[in-house]
Amino acid sequence: MKVGVLALQGNVPEHLGALRPLLPPGDLLPVRRPEDLARVAALFLPGGESTTIARLLDKSGLWRPLADRLTEGFPVLGTCAGLILLARKIDPSPGGRDPPTFGAIDAVVRRNDYGTQRESFEGPVRVEGLGEPPFPGVFIRAPRILEVGRGGAAFAWRDGEVVGVRTGAAWGTTFHPELSGDLRVHRQFLAAIPKGP
Ligand code: GLN
Repeated sequence: MKVGVLALQGNVPEHLGALRPLLPPGDLLPVRRPEDLARVAALFLPGGESTTIARLLDKSGLWRPLADRLTEGFPVLGTCAGLILLARKIDPSPGGRDPPTFGAIDAVVRRNDYGTQRESFEGPVRVEGLGEPPFPGVFIRAPRILEVGRGGAAFAWRDGEVVGVRTGAAWGTTFHPELSGDLRVHRQFLAAIPKGP
């Protein structure tokens, strides 16, 4: 089973590095073109700049095929900017231009809602099914999850606030498991991918 990392912009090497110890060699694929997407059974959408990633998705011809697969329940894990792109709705940034979204995760997010780069922080996150110790959450110009819709299910919390949400096989976190050195979220997501026939 091949697993992809969307490799257009952002924390691509970090996701590849986190996944390398968890997958047989050859099963890990950077996804840059529609042909790559067609070969993978699941996809990681990295943190980075959501507006840039959206523009490059369009330019590379990946937007439409990815949107189509998402409507069929394609397993994806979006971190930070990746979550923003998967969300049902972005609460508009004041004066800012926001990217279009796939609407795969029933949640409303607001970009950069914890402040600027300098206000980035780390802190313990409770992730459903992971137990102790808490997951080391790395938050970098993170979006805030303002609302989890009826089709969404929270699976991670920090100080009682939702920081991870999923709709079916589409998962998103406002933190960066690819930057924490802790592979438990990646492992948990991989274990949830339905195995082919
Ligand atoms: N602030 C970025 C955005 O809105 C996300 C930050 C990140 O992915 N670390 O796209």
